[in-house]
Amino acid sequence: MMIRRFFAQSIACIALAGTSAAVVAQPAVAPAGATTFPVPAPDPFQAAAGTAAPAAVAPSAATAIAVPVASPALRLYALDCGTVSLPDMGMFSDTGEYDGRSGSLAAPCFVVTHPSGTLLWDTGLGDSLAGKGPVTVDGGVILQVDRSLRSQLQAIGVRNIDYLAFSHLHFDHTGNAGAFPNATWLVNRTELDTALNEPSPFINPDALQAGERTKKQLLDGDHDVFGDGTVRILKAPGHTPGHQVLLVRLAKSGPVILSGDLYHTRENRKYQRVPSFNASRAETLASMNRIETLASNLGARIIIQHDPVEFAALPRAPGYLE
Ligand SMILES: [Zn+2]
Repeated sequence: MMIRRFFAQSIACIALAGTSAAVVAQPAVAPAGATTFPVPAPDPFQAAAGTAAPAAVAPSAATAIAVPVASPALRLYALDCGTVSLPDMGMFSDTGEYDGRSGSLAAPCFVVTHPSGTLLWDTGLGDSLAGKGPVTVDGGVILQVDRSLRSQLQAIGVRNIDYLAFSHLHFDHTGNAGAFPNATWLVNRTELDTALNEPSPFINPDALQAGERTKKQLLDGDHDVFGDGTVRILKAPGHTPGHQVLLVRLAKSGPVILSGDLYHTRENRKYQRVPSFNASRAETLASMNRIETLASNLGARIIIQHDPVEFAALPRAPGYLE
């Protein structure tokens, strides 16, 4: 199936020789155009009938960070959307520090609830892998999804996703991209154009197909998701041409920045190491400079999404940051 070919291609691109994945794709979890929840088990992958969608907010080109009044209802949930274990982490630095070293990456998803709606940031490896245990793909890379995103959204009572945004369109961030047919994608224009026109084994073709059916708001720069400054997508290219990070200004926890793949490890942040498969080394370093300076100015906590220790330090859902 698609995902088998996709993962095989992806890992092949990592240049790790090995055997093919024994991955079986599942049917789509929600039909396109569905508008109601099943009752009594609400399905967070479908839009609630009668739920007013938040007003669309025009893309903002502003780069200044206003100081908003943080809403008490603003919450950030971190969800476990899988892990990736690699026998060789060499690809995560182009200066050789990880060559031959094994390692694991978290592949989380994040939900932001806001009085005006909900935002899902990244969608993990995909529920088609949920419950299958460790799945070995090419090169001895092991993918594992212990809990489905669907079940975790139900557990935290999130019935509807209004906005779906991706740090970038690589497969480990878009696994459930097709599961929210009624959400509006907030996607960087350059990122989408590149994914569509420059085929890459890191891109999940299923996600692109899902995007064709979904309402999209194309971003050219930073974007204030709910119009009050509390949740902002920040352009941070380099890993991919349209890579972006997410700033959430929480009332109690203070500002946090979800890294996307600006960094894959804490060492990469400490030493500003650049993965060998990044689109642009120069843009990566410039984005690191921008986001670090911004974080310093705001007193923001940067959360490295792929770092298992940083992910484990976050409240476990149904807990949340607020
Ligand atoms: Zn990633």
